[in-house]
Amino acid sequence: MSDPILEQLLGLPHLTISGYELPDAKTVILDIQPTLKVALCPDCGHPSADLHDYDDPRLIRDLSIWGRQCFLRLRGRRFDCVRCGHPFTERLEWIDFGSSSTRRYESYVFELCRKNTPQYVSQLEDLGYDAVEGIFLRLGKKQLQGNSSVASA
Ligand SMILES: [Zn+2]
Repeated sequence: MSDPILEQLLGLPHLTISGYELPDAKTVILDIQPTLKVALCPDCGHPSADLHDYDDPRLIRDLSIWGRQCFLRLRGRRFDCVRCGHPFTERLEWIDFGSSSTRRYESYVFELCRKNTPQYVSQLEDLGYDAVEGIFLRLGKKQLQGNSSVASA
């Protein structure tokens, strides 16, 4: 199943939605799959079409929809780089590598933290305190780095 309306609402590039699940009254899980045939090697930048394996499915927190917490279920794709000879996991532009939430969700949590305590944001979003604090510190650091590179330019 591919659902063009859901995909349009999701608004993330190069993804198809292959299914969804409503495990309880406050959660929605969307099964997503990357549609690009190639991925870029993170080491040398060479494109590879040599898809050879999938990681186990993992849940990625995204912005809530219609009062439900939203999770994207993704099996990361593993490619072989013909130039380096190394296998690598595909990087996706809408999530930091190794993160368990989308960039736009992290930005949202960061904005909430600017005007609220991490405890409150944790409770509001039903997200662990450590996760909230981690996002706030990481994005705060990124912003500082962004500002200092502008200032020094
Ligand atoms: Zn490479």
